[in-house]
Amino acid sequence: MQNSFSDFDFSGKIALMRVDFNVPLDEKKNITDATRIQAAKDSINTVLQSGGKVVLLTHFGRPKGKKSEEFSLQSLVPQLEEILGHSINFLEDPTSVNARKWIEDFPEKSLILCENIRFYPGEESGDDSFATQLAKLGDVYINDAFGTAHRRHASTAVLAEKFSKTKFFGLLMEKELHAIEKVLKEGKHPITAVIGGAKVSSKITVIENILPAIDHLIIGGGMAFTFIRANGGMVGKSMVEEDKIELAVDLMRKCETYNVKLHLPVDVIAASEFNNASETSEEDIMKIPFDKMGLDVGPKSRALFHDVILDSKTILWNGPLGVFEMPTFAKGTVALGDAIAEATALGAFSLVGGGDSVSFVKQFGYEDKVSYVSTGGGAMLESLEGKELPGVAAITAKN
Ligand code: AMP
Repeated sequence: MQNSFSDFDFSGKIALMRVDFNVPLDEKKNITDATRIQAAKDSINTVLQSGGKVVLLTHFGRPKGKKSEEFSLQSLVPQLEEILGHSINFLEDPTSVNARKWIEDFPEKSLILCENIRFYPGEESGDDSFATQLAKLGDVYINDAFGTAHRRHASTAVLAEKFSKTKFFGLLMEKELHAIEKVLKEGKHPITAVIGGAKVSSKITVIENILPAIDHLIIGGGMAFTFIRANGGMVGKSMVEEDKIELAVDLMRKCETYNVKLHLPVDVIAASEFNNASETSEEDIMKIPFDKMGLDVGPKSRALFHDVILDSKTILWNGPLGVFEMPTFAKGTVALGDAIAEATALGAFSLVGGGDSVSFVKQFGYEDKVSYVSTGGGAMLESLEGKELPGVAAITAKN
């Protein structure tokens, strides 16, 4: 049976915890978005409060296996202490022979942060002897880094294999995995997936994998035009992947096979230039003038999508419905955010995941109006694609 983090007594133990503190900085090295650090707080505090020590492992940037001042975590310590509300002891070289003893000498409830784990080439190559070295630092291993769970790196997966019974998902990982299960395995019907963004090609495996689980599929954004072309529509200068039209036909057939109702936009906000100041017009999506491109969904589509969302009990959202970075073309995505917020307030479960929809949700203030916003873009998409994440498999595997 899977070990549970919450049931374990950490007193007197050293917990080696992989977190994802790969946060954005401004030019003065101020952390501009602390979401990932905040997200790890519950796991850290749980171990400390039960009388254990925590040794944090994280990557930061892409130092490509070499030490560099630019990617050192040392200068971030004061900011991390403030966000975590706890003093931090910085371990400059987690591979040094004295590292374990150095950690042991601290009193219980101490928090230790190791230098950027990607300073070591063995991290990204998933080197076994590097993982064995790291394993000596702790008595138990906790993975709370959902954002890197799709990578088989030394500290995200191989290290877990060095701990047989004493390896756990952290609380953030548990929440992330549960949110995906809540949609794909235990979702209350009707289940609706909204897939938007630029290209069909980057979302195809996600769509194929979720079809058996869902009832409605809303497609928006640039990728909708490839489907419209497949249906014989004239899309003008809109973004189209000509070589993916066959694929769109195939996906539409699969929707029928799985009894999934597909909802494509019926109208667009069109412009002649890819520019916020460009003059706009509302057009029927099947008859966009040859010199114009659709950059957002129109009012009829918004109303249609609103009704589908309000009928849903479970909603999965990945990708914007238009070029939301330009205010003129953000209205469709805002309307979708409003509809999902409304459905959530009425009791639906809504999960938002994947790069651009997450930045949209944060930027436009929907974070507290949806049920769950995933912290891991790539990891979230890979689990929706049905792939087993190495960081997850290493914890659940018996060894
Ligand atoms: P993705 O990374 O595939 O989720 O795509 C997100 C990007 O798709 C965003 O930067 C949007 O600006 C872009 N996008 C959404 N709708 C359109 C559209 N109709 N035409 C061109 N780009 C779009």
